[in-house]
Amino acid sequence: MKKIVVKIGSSVLTLDNGEPDRTRFNILAADIAGIMGEGYAVAVVSSGAIAFGRSIAGKELAPVSIPNKQVLSSIGQPLLINAYMTDLKPYNKTVAQVLLTHEDFMDRQRYLNARRSIELMLNRGFVPVVNENDAISVDEIKVGDNDTLSAMVAVMISADRLIILSDIDAIYDRDPNRYRDARPINEIKPADQYRSFGESKSRYGVGGVRTKITAAKQLAKLGITTTIANGRINNIITRVVNGEKLGTTILPGNKRINAKRKWVSLLLKSSGSISIDDGARAAVLKNKSLLAAGIIKVSGTFKDEDVISIMDTNGREIARGITNYSVTEIERIKGKKSSQIKTSLGYFKGDEVIHRDNLILNADG
Ligand code: GLU
Repeated sequence: MKKIVVKIGSSVLTLDNGEPDRTRFNILAADIAGIMGEGYAVAVVSSGAIAFGRSIAGKELAPVSIPNKQVLSSIGQPLLINAYMTDLKPYNKTVAQVLLTHEDFMDRQRYLNARRSIELMLNRGFVPVVNENDAISVDEIKVGDNDTLSAMVAVMISADRLIILSDIDAIYDRDPNRYRDARPINEIKPADQYRSFGESKSRYGVGGVRTKITAAKQLAKLGITTTIANGRINNIITRVVNGEKLGTTILPGNKRINAKRKWVSLLLKSSGSISIDDGARAAVLKNKSLLAAGIIKVSGTFKDEDVISIMDTNGREIARGITNYSVTEIERIKGKKSSQIKTSLGYFKGDEVIHRDNLILNADG
């Protein structure tokens, strides 16, 4: 069963007055049901809760602040889910709501629980409609934008592809708002330099081109294809899946990474960091495990099994990984040879502070 994650941005789903664009929901529901009819399982990651909430209670909940947005999302999320439910029902498709926060990806147990539940929905032919749990998400625990969340969900369920629908037609070779001769790029291959492509922001959503490209780049590293396309084109999902050249498709490299490493790679916030010397840096870049000897400095408040950043001597993050030792343990064993770990701690959990299987190089690295 091929799995697709479709991210639908607020700009696609919202009318000028902020209310849900029910015509668009209708068209998208037909599209989703259609592609499911071709044998695909579809998980939707949908924005719109805050925008819809604003159309109902924007006056009472001004100005824009985190607590106000939390309440707006709680008011708008039922409208969002109701629109999907109502419009998918004629196709006998049942919607299942999933609200996630960053913490659901940080904690391995919660991550596995969420994954199991979404996979069960997909296997049974239901349509998970995922959004960030904005009502309880404050900055520290927030994924922050649904482009990134959709990429995290794509990794979580090992999707074959991600389709990001917004009001952006494609990625352009230069900023289309500034240059009239900007040309859309149909396909980006792993070797291309995507960083330099034009910047633009859509009207309602949190993300812009940048969050979309970052998400797509991460997924490309993990073997997942991403297409960025205009969600107001009718039948866009079916047309993209069936190979029509619409929007921009970011193709993956051919390297697939095992599930545990995938889990680490897309985490946005690490619980702490360790700085390593140049020798250890060279080893890590060659995909070797990180040992205590190369660690110069450690900071944060992490436990073992947490995700942490690995920094070089210039303070640049070069990789992330799941640590076998806590911050207090690393404080005591840093710079030491593996043979001295037992003496320092009174016990030994293994040579590797981060095993190579649990380590992934930075997307820009
Ligand atoms: N979770 C937000 C909402 O439903 C959207 C975040 C985004 O636009 O990326 O309103």
